[in-house]
Amino acid sequence: MTAAAIRITGGCLCGQTRYQANGPVLFSLLCYCVDCQKASGTGHVPIMGVARSGFTVNGPAVASKSIGGSGRMAVRNFCARCHSLLFGTPEAAPDLVTIYAGSLDDSHLFTPQKAQFTRTRQAWDSVPAGVPAYEEAAP
Ligand SMILES: [Zn+2]
Ligand SMILES: [Zn+2]
Repeated sequence: MTAAAIRITGGCLCGQTRYQANGPVLFSLLCYCVDCQKASGTGHVPIMGVARSGFTVNGPAVASKSIGGSGRMAVRNFCARCHSLLFGTPEAAPDLVTIYAGSLDDSHLFTPQKAQFTRTRQAWDSVPAGVPAYEEAAP
């Protein structure tokens, strides 16, 4: 749920890399783009946007870069030890961090509001009922 004063924490599978962020949650979406599928090995990635200011990481996080839909680098950050995907730091949106919601300590902080790039959704994956779907980037 979106709330102004919330503290957001999460981390990787092995516990070596942890992050903290301040609310509010700016957006919550499910991304079905091909890059997210490849990077995660799944059908879509749950993404929660927060402000870059106040976001801190402790542990051996490593960045993986690829050209994003913006034409600038999409940067996916993962734990150097266990390789869990944790958060994105898109060059096209330097004020934002995009937390991958599966890494949150409190799963209730994430409620998807939109699904994007559903044009490339895998046939075996689906969009949850009640979540508006956009074939391209969500507005
Ligand atoms: Zn780890
Ligand atoms: Zn994506």
